[in-house]
Amino acid sequence: MITRIGLVAAALAVLFVCSRLRAEVEPSKLGLGAPFAPGKIMNGITRHRLLHFTFDDGPDAKTTPLMLDALDQVGVRATFFFSASRFADKSARNAHARELALLVQRRGHSIGSHSVDHKRMRTMTSAQLRDQLDRNDRLFTEIFGQRTFLFRPPWGSHSPELDAMLAERKNTVVLWNIGSADWTIFDADELESTFEKALPYLERTKSWGGGIVLMHDTHPWTVQAFPRIVAALRAKNCALLATDQELYDIADDLALWDPALAPATLEAELRRRQGALREATKLRCAKN
Ligand SMILES: [Zn+2]
Repeated sequence: MITRIGLVAAALAVLFVCSRLRAEVEPSKLGLGAPFAPGKIMNGITRHRLLHFTFDDGPDAKTTPLMLDALDQVGVRATFFFSASRFADKSARNAHARELALLVQRRGHSIGSHSVDHKRMRTMTSAQLRDQLDRNDRLFTEIFGQRTFLFRPPWGSHSPELDAMLAERKNTVVLWNIGSADWTIFDADELESTFEKALPYLERTKSWGGGIVLMHDTHPWTVQAFPRIVAALRAKNCALLATDQELYDIADDLALWDPALAPATLEAELRRRQGALREATKLRCAKN
């Protein structure tokens, strides 16, 4: 089990400095729309019990619609990082992928890019990188009417050169600090129990209360496990409330991880969210 949890703990240690002040947390749907801390790299690390779920590699004709239903079922909004090759040409199959991509946006989720071809970008030449990013911007603009500003390189494989190119294009790199390991665990029950053990493990060994979670909307076992993972977190919140501990807060968008956010602003916003969450949890847990 430790090996599996070790996988979940795969961290990308990229340090960043919060330098630019922001007046308040904007409840925006990020990714499409205005640039978001351009040139910054988010690694997801937080000592707070704060979580944001992200789904890579879609859209997938079979599993993405089911994942959208699963997200609605538990009332969670996530960020989807699409591989643009899934909707690269005008074939009927890709037309369906385009419709699905728009549906994900209409259902209230944030959209980011996972590159065009899902190849390791660290080893690409300058010309290959430029070609990937140009095609990426063109495809997203064709579908959504605008570029996306959130970028997640496949396998988190990035380089100073790629980072500089993305910064020039006003992109933010979004990594993760909690891998669900749904690429090696093909069973919903096991996925759920591994996730449940991972959070206390990360808190104990790294002082991470939560973070940005990597999952894939292309796996049926992830679709099955996801609502159960959220239900387990909410059940755990009843116990945490009873012992007066910080509750797990599932954030709808990545605004709370904005590297440009002033720490004092973030702390104030998290306190406000905890207050509201504690009230809602008190009512919910009393009913159960
Ligand atoms: Zn991927």
